[in-house]
Amino acid sequence: MIKCPNCGGELKYNVNDKVVKCDHCGSTFNPDEQIAKTKTAEENTGYQGKVYNCTQCGANLMTFDETAITFCSYCGSQAMLESKMIQQTNPDFIIPFTIDKDKCVKKFKDKVNKSVFVPNYMKSDLVVEKFRGIYIPYCIYKLGFKGVDKEKGEKYSHRSGDYQYYDQFSVEFNVDAKYEGFSYDLASKFYDKYSEAIPFNEEEKKPFNANYMLGYYADAKDVDSNIYLNLAIEEANADYKKRLLATKEASQYGCSTASIKFDNIDQKVGMFPLYFLAIRSKNQKNINYAVVNGQTGELVTELPVSYTKYLIGSLIMSVIIFLLINSFLVLTPHEVCFAAIIVAMIGMAINYVQAHALTKREKNGDDLGLQFINKGSTEKYKHPYFGFVIAVISMLIPVLILAMNPVHDYYYYGASAIALGLMLLNFYNIVKKHNELVSTKLPQLEKRGGDESA
Ligand SMILES: [Zn+2]
Ligand SMILES: [Zn+2]
Repeated sequence: MIKCPNCGGELKYNVNDKVVKCDHCGSTFNPDEQIAKTKTAEENTGYQGKVYNCTQCGANLMTFDETAITFCSYCGSQAMLESKMIQQTNPDFIIPFTIDKDKCVKKFKDKVNKSVFVPNYMKSDLVVEKFRGIYIPYCIYKLGFKGVDKEKGEKYSHRSGDYQYYDQFSVEFNVDAKYEGFSYDLASKFYDKYSEAIPFNEEEKKPFNANYMLGYYADAKDVDSNIYLNLAIEEANADYKKRLLATKEASQYGCSTASIKFDNIDQKVGMFPLYFLAIRSKNQKNINYAVVNGQTGELVTELPVSYTKYLIGSLIMSVIIFLLINSFLVLTPHEVCFAAIIVAMIGMAINYVQAHALTKREKNGDDLGLQFINKGSTEKYKHPYFGFVIAVISMLIPVLILAMNPVHDYYYYGASAIALGLMLLNFYNIVKKHNELVSTKLPQLEKRGGDESA
């Protein structure tokens, strides 16, 4: 840990003045220069920090001053164990914070205040105060290939009797390809879907200097940087294929595939700045995340829906729609049944998509870093298709009545009423699933498993 050389006080990086400032005597220092003489040669190749371990989610967060970490930025737990000082090897790059916490908080508040159905607890100042600036390790890839790419092509030539003749070509392309800007976060607690949503401008990266981290937290990297290499290669090759097949030559000789084996692969690690906020739901079972890019100020968050607010909103909308329809059109009992079927089918579609997404996420199918950490986990997950079944039943009732074609109107109205009643139950289910999808289960509860899914 670096202290103020003038008074021994706490040093913090100041985003707005772009200097390192002493809390105590107010001295300022240029972060790009060495502030204090280092004692050992080791400190030139690494940085020191105090590690705090979260007993609930297992996150390892580091600090570089005397401020104790009192809650976990990833799960909001207050059970943080102070661990020892550790030495980390220096990454290659760092992107310093350029957005201060006030701007970050304002960005989040603007978003929440615009969202009508968001529950009130998300808007509390106490919650928003818990935004923390964290440096997250990212892996940065550069890929290159210079050489010959041999591809096969096929083109229709002519027809003779019952036979069609094709010409086959062997085509050689001289390629000089360079790919840059593939970066992936190496923190397993930080979901890929968020890191993908708020990309960094890597041109502003600087050679690593721990001075920029003073006053912030940092995540101690726990994911092997190699796991994203194949993904980077895949993405680069997909782009290469698209570009090559778009050339005149490729279409002239009927090429349909293209891929290269990158021979120049450069892999670097950088620390990237983020503001992180984990908000626990009222029942303490789920967490919603808000993440702000500390360089660009971009916000990514998925907000839950308050069922009460949603129901009131829907009722007001229904009354307006009913009055509008009623003023120029009278529905026959058959048409009412059809309308109920259409509503039920929309419900079925939404339920199916949600259930599918939930199942996929439960298997960590959407996060490579998490798969890496959780591999070997054999826990079974129950399919959340309950809502889908309800929607199917609410569709079948009016279908059945239409098929039976009874004489009395009240059969049709009755069937539609039951169907719509079931749909109301289903809407509750849809909101509940939405809230599950935009949040994450608290990690320790997840490990225990079973009991809370009932
Ligand atoms: Zn000082
Ligand atoms: Zn935690």
